[in-house]
Amino acid sequence: MLKILYLWGMAAKLELTPLTQWGFFSNLLPRVIAGPCSAESEEQVMETAAGLASAGIRVFRAGIWKPRTHPGCFEGVGSTGLSWLQKVQRELGMKVCTEVASAKHVEECLRHGIDMVWVGARTTGNPFLVQEIADALQGCDLPVLVKNPVSPDLDLWVGALERLNQAGLRKLGVVHRGFSTLQETHYRNDPGWRIAIELRTLFPDLPFFADPSHMGGERKYLQELSQRALDLGLEGLFIESHCHPEKAMSDANQQLTPEALGRMLHEQLIVRESDTLAADYRENIEQLRARIDLIDENLLEVLRSRMEISREIGRYKKDHNIAILQLARWDDLLGDMIDKGSVEGMDEKFLRALFSVIHEESVRVQNEILDSKE
Ligand code: PEP
Ligand code: MN
Repeated sequence: MLKILYLWGMAAKLELTPLTQWGFFSNLLPRVIAGPCSAESEEQVMETAAGLASAGIRVFRAGIWKPRTHPGCFEGVGSTGLSWLQKVQRELGMKVCTEVASAKHVEECLRHGIDMVWVGARTTGNPFLVQEIADALQGCDLPVLVKNPVSPDLDLWVGALERLNQAGLRKLGVVHRGFSTLQETHYRNDPGWRIAIELRTLFPDLPFFADPSHMGGERKYLQELSQRALDLGLEGLFIESHCHPEKAMSDANQQLTPEALGRMLHEQLIVRESDTLAADYRENIEQLRARIDLIDENLLEVLRSRMEISREIGRYKKDHNIAILQLARWDDLLGDMIDKGSVEGMDEKFLRALFSVIHEESVRVQNEILDSKE
């Protein structure tokens, strides 16, 4: 709770240039940044980029320096690959971007006229490196996309954005690529959409891309994850594509050919509009929203009186020198609410999360009483 409050306080501090002023994308949705996980050879880069251009994609990605988990894996072709990206710019008129993880990478990209860079998940979680990158970019107007850190830590993600913003970078965006988790998941990285929604709520103007490739880890998940991103109204997709995916030197299982990507984008995904002028929609949605507003006001009132009773209980506990946390009572209450809610068809996870927050606040309120002179 406190963490969220801290972030709300920070919300006003990002100064952003709207995506429409980056000169990268048309207004057509979804906006797509695509290309191979790694640039492997000039031929592979040019064949993939040409295929993507034919599928209507205007922004090309390719990793030049690859952060690999184990040593000895293919770690990217290094600076040589930058001239291939320049060829993509020259011959296909596409914008190009790559990952940077150090001041040296930034300097090389600037020297080669790369249009945009991204900070990878393993780097976002390291404030030293983010600061080094921000310092190296100081004074440039280069667009920078910041991937979420590997761990589900919203503060680290926001902190990276703040460092770049303080270095004068205004064309900032984020890429949500999922999180490492201890929980069982069939995806490579847990989508953790809740954190994405929190960030979206904090910074509604921050351009937001989803990376279904690193989330899913396998081609078969790309469509459902991309659709989820579009359903949430995100700005676009950051997705891996390779002219011969089965031969890719990194992330072979999650890459699509440019043709398959084009089919997915143009024939399979459903783009959601953020609004419509259709009269029946507007009328119905307004009525429903008015009912929601009323219910929310009631909810507030119910919560306020619940907290008032918690305070009173706190006073009794204080007078009788009783510990605030009563685990048996809490277990009973939660169990009871989950049973009742489940009968009403409500989701158990939601009920657990909801009552945990309410209980946390009750404990805080009672602690306040304990510390006060009342
Ligand atoms: C990538 O986009 O190729 C990449 C390495 O991604 P991430 O930083 O999300 O793992
Ligand atoms: Mn990859």
